[in-house]
Amino acid sequence: MGSTVKKDKNLNNLNDFKTNTGIYEEGMKYLMNTYTRQPVVFEKAKMQYLWDIEGNKYTDFTSGYGCLNVGHTNNEIVAAIKKQVSKIIQPSNIYFSQSQVMLAKKLSELTGFDGKIFFANSGAEAIEGAIKLARKYSTDKYNKQRYEIISFQNSFHGRTFGALSATAQAQKQKLFEPLLQGFRYASFNDLDSVSGSINTNTCAILIELIQGEGGINVSDKDFIKSLEKICKEKDILLIIDEVQTGLGRTGKLFAYENYDIVPDILVLAKSLGGGMPIGAIIARDEINKAFVPGTHGSTFGGNAASCAAGVAVLNYFEKYELIRKSQETGKYLLSKLNKLKEKYAGAVKEVRGMGLMLAIEFKSPIAGEIIVSGLKDRLVLNKVSDFTIRFLPSLVINKKDINNLITFLDKKLKESDDSGKDKKN
Ligand code: PLP
Repeated sequence: MGSTVKKDKNLNNLNDFKTNTGIYEEGMKYLMNTYTRQPVVFEKAKMQYLWDIEGNKYTDFTSGYGCLNVGHTNNEIVAAIKKQVSKIIQPSNIYFSQSQVMLAKKLSELTGFDGKIFFANSGAEAIEGAIKLARKYSTDKYNKQRYEIISFQNSFHGRTFGALSATAQAQKQKLFEPLLQGFRYASFNDLDSVSGSINTNTCAILIELIQGEGGINVSDKDFIKSLEKICKEKDILLIIDEVQTGLGRTGKLFAYENYDIVPDILVLAKSLGGGMPIGAIIARDEINKAFVPGTHGSTFGGNAASCAAGVAVLNYFEKYELIRKSQETGKYLLSKLNKLKEKYAGAVKEVRGMGLMLAIEFKSPIAGEIIVSGLKDRLVLNKVSDFTIRFLPSLVINKKDINNLITFLDKKLKESDDSGKDKKN
């Protein structure tokens, strides 16, 4: 054939790559450089633990960026996926599948606002669908100009163009301008800023109740209640992005339950699939009617395998009382982090979050060094800025795992304290 690609015999035999650095170096040659990758390759995982290709065991405090709330390769999820893939994986969306209907029914019942579901493959794709649904509902009902959406400074809604346009972070947006028009950005937890952004063309407000990528910024209950009130008064749709806060992460199945509100459109993804790709939009009945055949779709969205995993995830929550247990471990981790803050008041600026979605912010940019050092100590950690480490462990994490983390952080903070003293001396 006319290919100019030189064939490397090793490419056909991945078993030749048995070391972390071997695969890392090969990966750097063939995969686009879109992530700051670490030279560790995970070969196996079980619940809150990971093993690299050389057999080293790690505790995961990121759960794949908040996807594995029920743990990695959870036996019950794996069994449900295996059972489904041996029957049918992708019936195509002009036919229902048992697992898709089961998952939709469960989500509609659990949310309890008479919602119908649209399934996508990811968070960003679900956000795109929510933007389209809000625009369609509002422009059908009012006029063609009523398509503006208000989102918030420091938010994160995904990397596709609509989702990126909603993501009010200049450094992420400016590389890809021009973006989708029709977005206004308000300040988080600032009602005046929202009121000042609303006009007759506003169709929706899109918000994360706890900003995840933005640094674990928790919204105030009064602020969210007021947003809900304004939205009701003006028939503006309240879209809650629970891609990261969803499914037990904040001590409730859905974070909005902590705020005593009802969303018009709820967006889920990440942990719903127990590791399988899935996204979901859940919209109240009056709103979801704006989508009719031909208005929206997704070839793989809601495929039978991902939906079977989703059903198993929801069943697992119920069967093992995972939320009640995670509330306890969440409180434990929070109290331990707060003790570190007291002990190292000179180094730790703030501890914040809810449930098992927590962050520690330092007074100096030491987060990167702590992440790299954590990996050497077999802890998988994630930073959201040079100053802040975010904790999104599987909800099955236990106190012993947390104690190991705290011992490590204590050691690092002591080192940083000592080096600060040395510099002063
Ligand atoms: N929304 C929120 C709140 C997220 O945290 C993310 C991803 O981190 C997304 C949307 C985008 O999801 P995905 O990466 O699945 O496209």
